Amino acid sequence: MAFEPAFMRRFAEFDAERRRVRTPEDWRVFASKWFDASSWPMKTPEQRAAESAHKRGPLRVGGRLWSYTSWVYDLSPDARYVYFSTLRRVGDPIRFPGSRVGAGGTAAGSDAHSAQECPYCEISTAEIGDDLCPQCGRQLVYEHYA
Ligand SMILES: [Zn+2]
Repeated sequence: MAFEPAFMRRFAEFDAERRRVRTPEDWRVFASKWFDASSWPMKTPEQRAAESAHKRGPLRVGGRLWSYTSWVYDLSPDARYVYFSTLRRVGDPIRFPGSRVGAGGTAAGSDAHSAQECPYCEISTAEIGDDLCPQCGRQLVYEHYA
């Protein structure tokens, strides 16, 4: 059973605070309260080995070529999705103002330096297209390499 961090266990409180984040200082306070990874469990070497045996890519889903992503922390898929989508949609536009990071939708559609990723399914593609994950239907998150 994967670990559920505080932002999942107290989601209503987390979400209310997330909606109030406006400035870099807001983000700093918010992220240090909710995204303190020091209390999150890391995957064991056995888990990582099992994962890489399972994750052989690339894979073709919904007409696009995807590769698998992985993360060192052992959080539930839902928690992973909330974490990365908050980082990209709320944190990045504040931390990198003026860039198109986190813009989502069509704004980043033609940007060759971005990828679309589903943190829930742990798949990522450089073939920018439909905004919804072909596996789980969640909204994809824009990942920028730069
Ligand atoms: Zn997905």
